[in-house]
Amino acid sequence: MDSNVLANLRCPMCQQGPVEATATVAWIRGFILAYQFSRKVVIGCVPCVRKQLLAEAGKSALLGWFSISALIANPFLITYNLIRAATVSPNQQAVLQRLRG
Ligand SMILES: [Zn+2]
Repeated sequence: MDSNVLANLRCPMCQQGPVEATATVAWIRGFILAYQFSRKVVIGCVPCVRKQLLAEAGKSALLGWFSISALIANPFLITYNLIRAATVSPNQQAVLQRLRG
């Protein structure tokens, strides 16, 4: 798979922008006695990848506080997602690597 392949792909979220950026979104959801750490890879155009990061940071700010572990980890994850959102930029090499798995 080379960069010509990317030229023919559209962003899976808005179907408009180019597939040009990727980021790992990380979040934690606390429950009373346990917590769940999750992450997912998002691939798409820069505005959509950024939107995903900000959406997850927002959800974590609302829902991420319900256990001791989550309480400790959540500020770091929110900060991580916000910094990542601020620094998303086109990176075809990274996208290709993700697509290759
Ligand atoms: Zn998009």
